[in-house]
Amino acid sequence: MTTRSFVIVGAGLAGASAAAALRKRGSDGRIVVIGAESHLPYERPSLSKDYLRGGSDRSALLARSDSFYRDNAIDVRTSVAATDIVPRERVVVLTDGSRVPYDRLLLSTGAAPRRLAVPGGDLPGIHYLRTIEDADSIRAAAATAGYAVVVGGGWIGAEVAASLRQLGHRVTLVAPTSVPLERVLGPEVGAVYRDLHVRHGVELAMGRRIRAVGGRRRVEAVELDDGSRLEADLVVVGIGAVPRMQIAARAGLAVGDGIEVDETLETSVPGIFAAGDAASAWHPAFGRRIRVEHWDNAKRQGAAAAAGMLGEREPYARVPYFFSDQFDLSMEYAGHAPAWNRVVFRGHPASGIFVAFWLNRGRLLAGMNANVEGASKAISALVASRRPVAVDRLVDQCVPLDDIDALTVQSAVARRRWWKDDSKSRIVRDRTAWE
Ligand code: FAD
Repeated sequence: MTTRSFVIVGAGLAGASAAAALRKRGSDGRIVVIGAESHLPYERPSLSKDYLRGGSDRSALLARSDSFYRDNAIDVRTSVAATDIVPRERVVVLTDGSRVPYDRLLLSTGAAPRRLAVPGGDLPGIHYLRTIEDADSIRAAAATAGYAVVVGGGWIGAEVAASLRQLGHRVTLVAPTSVPLERVLGPEVGAVYRDLHVRHGVELAMGRRIRAVGGRRRVEAVELDDGSRLEADLVVVGIGAVPRMQIAARAGLAVGDGIEVDETLETSVPGIFAAGDAASAWHPAFGRRIRVEHWDNAKRQGAAAAAGMLGEREPYARVPYFFSDQFDLSMEYAGHAPAWNRVVFRGHPASGIFVAFWLNRGRLLAGMNANVEGASKAISALVASRRPVAVDRLVDQCVPLDDIDALTVQSAVARRRWWKDDSKSRIVRDRTAWE
């Protein structure tokens, strides 16, 4: 194996996974991982769940132990950021003034929380959640808070609302949609989450936006767009995340909704790759770029980018996957459903144990297993097959989910009809986000 210098900017899950994969694939080159945070690469999902509730400690969050990096000669430099890339010289410039040369570079810079742009939006007492420190400060503030308001009905908002409620706090969840998680799951499955939160005592202000945050020295209330006021001494904002791509843009790499990469995760500048939340990657199955803000994608794209950096060109075509835990509902979601025309259920949603399927003109786009273990692999395979499904069998609990032949339409006539209809389908979103 030729010795090379690999530099990874961004010490998150994608970066850690790339470093590990470089060694696993036999590279004996120099590997440097540069991280702006003071921690070794860690996993964020617990920050809105167990860790936020005080149920686990920092060491449980680490993607890999300290000794793993030592044993594999991976040089992880924390508390230092990359400020610039000079592609012509193949050098990365750091905040401490040092210049790190590379042969292959990976940008795994992640995403940053979108800020609340309303009057009073910068008052003390308003929190965002991305880092360990963010979670610590929310937990500390919650300990003395009387009323918590969570802004945003996406995954972060819904999970934080659930965790704060589980800690015994009075919580109101504010979102512009009619039910939580409506943007990703639609009204039918979003209603399951609405009922779940209401059942556990979360107050919901749905169909409402924040107009202002009030308070003299710190947050005291939030004002909604219908003129009503909610008392609040803790506000947590989860209104989406924006890809960190400034250094890529400054270096002249193509950027759009993220750092643009091809199906092997290489950017517009040869030798520079991107992975994880920051990357807008060409997906061969969808025939377009998508940016996926999920744990599984960070882990697997990191590893795939490592293969690309080693010259092993493997298209990254994985079906997106994520999970969420709120109160007693654990779910997994596999697929990509920017727009759909039908939602069907296997099992009854009110029972809390079901599988939901999103279809577009007879083709399965995505499926979500709620409190049903081990179904996501079969759902992924069914989505990846791109075969038209027989809906009556899809919803029939007697037909095994991993029996693709039994669940898909076999006749040539039906397939022809499906292809014709499918060509009319409309894509309206190109991003699957953890927000
Ligand atoms: P990040 O984890 O954001 O890491 C990027 C790192 O790069 C950061 O440490 C950043 O400081 C650093 N960096 C950025 N710019 C520079 C620079 N110029 N120089 C040096 N370092 C830099 N997904 C799920 O599927 N299920 C879940 O239940 C789930 N829960 C989540 C809960 C929370 C609270 C959050 C925030 C996310 C959650 N996610 C979940 C999403 C998942 O954690 C992300 O998709 C994943 O962390 C992305 O990894 P990444 O390595 O691409 O980016």
